[in-house]
Amino acid sequence: MDISVIIPVYNEELNLPALFARLTEVMQKLGRSYELLFINDGSRDRSIELIRDLADKHPEVRFIDLSRNFGHQIAVSAGIDYVSGDAVCIIDADLQDPPELIIDLYHKMRNEGYEVVYARRARRLGESIFKLWTAKMFYRILSNITTVPIPVDTGDFRIIDRSIVEVLRQMPEKDKYIRGQISWIGFRQTYVEYERHERNAGETGYTLRKMFRLALDGITGFSNFPLRLVTIFGFLVSVIAFLVALYALHARFFTEHYVSGWTSLIIAVLFTGGVQLLSLGIIGEYLARVNSNVRNRPLYVVRQTNVPK
Ligand code: UDP
Ligand code: MG
Repeated sequence: MDISVIIPVYNEELNLPALFARLTEVMQKLGRSYELLFINDGSRDRSIELIRDLADKHPEVRFIDLSRNFGHQIAVSAGIDYVSGDAVCIIDADLQDPPELIIDLYHKMRNEGYEVVYARRARRLGESIFKLWTAKMFYRILSNITTVPIPVDTGDFRIIDRSIVEVLRQMPEKDKYIRGQISWIGFRQTYVEYERHERNAGETGYTLRKMFRLALDGITGFSNFPLRLVTIFGFLVSVIAFLVALYALHARFFTEHYVSGWTSLIIAVLFTGGVQLLSLGIIGEYLARVNSNVRNRPLYVVRQTNVPK
């Protein structure tokens, strides 16, 4: 099998026929053997009936029907566990990601020797200013605080090589941020730019809550910066506390103007504040290490070796 296409589906009955038609045309143009793997993520409409119908008629259609709505990232992860292609493409079901771009993604990967070619959104059409702005801010902040460079303005629409799939399957972390995981894996990665269209029909399955959750998974999964921030604050407050303590003592003993009781009070307040934040920071540092062990990622990824196994 040359190419597997992973399609997470949540209430997409209106989009499935057009999606299937366009995907089929694209795959036939490519002329490679392929499978279309639909993951029904607990849809409440007729999506699964439509998918079953397609599967009955077309042998290249496979599906996984999840028991309830687990969320987009988990649906895609399920797909990763079940695909068998040498190249795997992840695409949204709502036609916001044009299937025709798969041809470019595939050729770039195979002709130029990349393991990952992701589709970068040069422009996003038909989305609210709020979504555009929050997404933009999020990607910028994340790329500034993570240790692995996670590309900005990029969703999960991409093509990945079998070698990436194998590593993804070894990453058992529960809070998935797939684009971060793929960046973490490394190898040669590049991108193709595209214009992200409006949703073909239906409405977004990404509620504000799911978006927030995804953002938190991205940050906590790939950065300890928020924890480190507490340590930094702790140091800052401690330094300030020290300076104010000096001033308070000076005012108390070497000047005439002081309010009685203020010296001990301000020193006590600032000192405890600093100590508390520092202690929290220390706990945070430990937590960060526990966190990275709990993620249980492989320690490294080998591209090639001549050591016999
Ligand atoms: N999706 C999913 N489970 C969810 C939400 C969304 O499988 O809980 C799918 C959805 O069917 C689509 C893709 O994930 O194929 C992207 O979701 P959506 O288009 O709703 O997000 P947006 O493009 O608005 O960010
Ligand atoms: Mg969408």
